[in-house]
Amino acid sequence: MLSPIQRTELRTYYYTPVHCPFCGTRVMGADPADETRITACAHTLFIAHDTAFEYRSERFDRHLDLDGLTDEEVEERWSGAEGGVDGFTNRVTLADAIKVAAYAPAPSAYGSYYGFAPTE
Ligand SMILES: [Zn+2]
Repeated sequence: MLSPIQRTELRTYYYTPVHCPFCGTRVMGADPADETRITACAHTLFIAHDTAFEYRSERFDRHLDLDGLTDEEVEERWSGAEGGVDGFTNRVTLADAIKVAAYAPAPSAYGSYYGFAPTE
């Protein structure tokens, strides 16, 4: 039976750097010269925020039938989903997948989403 991706939410310490739970790679902000730089490891499925995907793995694209779509077509998929990027990435059912959702407090209400799953 398929289970939805397990979620962890950061609401108070939303700025805490997120590391892959499977290998410890710091996926965001690892480069002090450019804190927006992404370091995706083999377990990273996606890195996104409310207005865009920063990173999508091939595994993620295959899993959610995004293979071969343009970025615009992918945007149509998630922008039409309930809950936007957050809701769309909740559809992942890969075994033991984990999603970290970091929500900056109001009034910014800005969310960042990190998805990981073990590899075989
Ligand atoms: Zn990893």
